[in-house]
Amino acid sequence: MKIVSIKGSQILDSRGIPTVACSIKTGTGSFSAMVPSGTSTGQYEALELRDAGKEFDGKGVLKAVQNVNGPIAKALVGKLFQTQRDVDTALIKLDGTKNKSRLGGNAILAVSMAVCRAGADERRMNLYEYIGQLAGNKSFVLPVPQLNVMNGGYHVGLKNDIQESMFFPSGAKSFSEALRIGTEAYHCLKKILLQKYGVSATLIGAEGGFVPEAVKKQADRMTLIQQAAEETGYAKKIDFAIDAAASEFYANGSYQIGSQKFSSESLVEYYSEFISNYSIVSLEDAFSDDDWSGWTALTKKLGSQLQIVGDDLLVTNPERIKRAISEKACNSLLLKVNQIGTVSESIDAFLIAKNAGWTTVVSHRSGETEDSFIADLVVGLGCGQSKFGAPARSERTAKYNRLLQIEETLGSKARFGSITAR
Ligand code: PEP
Ligand code: MG
Repeated sequence: MKIVSIKGSQILDSRGIPTVACSIKTGTGSFSAMVPSGTSTGQYEALELRDAGKEFDGKGVLKAVQNVNGPIAKALVGKLFQTQRDVDTALIKLDGTKNKSRLGGNAILAVSMAVCRAGADERRMNLYEYIGQLAGNKSFVLPVPQLNVMNGGYHVGLKNDIQESMFFPSGAKSFSEALRIGTEAYHCLKKILLQKYGVSATLIGAEGGFVPEAVKKQADRMTLIQQAAEETGYAKKIDFAIDAAASEFYANGSYQIGSQKFSSESLVEYYSEFISNYSIVSLEDAFSDDDWSGWTALTKKLGSQLQIVGDDLLVTNPERIKRAISEKACNSLLLKVNQIGTVSESIDAFLIAKNAGWTTVVSHRSGETEDSFIADLVVGLGCGQSKFGAPARSERTAKYNRLLQIEETLGSKARFGSITAR
């Protein structure tokens, strides 16, 4: 592939915060990508370069854009690259730091994703087919979606709170059925909240889930989402998932949820109670990203019953994933492309997790764009699970709608995911 030009731009994400977009031209056409951004970010993620100036409260990304248009364009334009890996390796070398802090993970990822689209087009492949080829996978699997229907924690500006309560429609037979079931239950939940707490309880948070202020306890949230699953007649088809995002309620060796304080040991008991009372099949970031022994204790106690997902713990970083495998700290990878910063390293992370017998959940960020790259990514990897937020707001539905389109394209060849490792 020969890149003819590269152009970076500053655009806005779904929170109204600047992010990086990139457009490249090759011999076959123009290809673009937009970078997502987190709110409850892990401390070990690739660095998101921000201007720290007056504009946008310091959150501008003009320096990262300048890095796309300057050093990155200079290094890539006019040169011949055979593979995605060649381009990503050139980007990593050009940056030269461990956490992509010189050029910015946001600058690098924008280029890497746009190059991936160009690579697919050059081979006249769908993006998911090309990603499949890069990952050595020929079996395209539509994901079981984790749908975040109640937003809490940092995503709504709350401290000491569980972040995400999700539907997991694993009893569906196809992705489109799972999305329909989850969407119907989402609307039912809205009606329940309206009746019980009034209109303000139906307002939504960063990922499109409801934020009923009166419902502070996690047990009450679980009861409500279970009620919605039951009232829609899908009690047997919908399981549940939680992302605690525990790094955000951990300080000085202890955890605090609401006014209750927990040690690592008592937090395991707290989660165990939920697991026995509700059909929770997946638990993400139950402990803070440095509490390795807490993670290992939880996985020992509950890992045979449910998916223990590492997000902030792993930050899609091959080194941290390897450590978690050897310490038996979890059994599932949350894969976020901007945590590591290139397509090739994201695929590496997935393959390490897969070879360890783990599951992988491809995830969005709380700050998203209309780019649907991760929909193709989850199908191409064939890992069978996604976490793309509520079935509402265009930055989330862009991914769901792309998945519906892929399901149609694959027709009878479309397989549907599950929670088991592949
Ligand atoms: C998450 O924690 O899984 C998440 C999607 O949130 P953020 O993008 O804010 O890290
Ligand atoms: Mg998370």
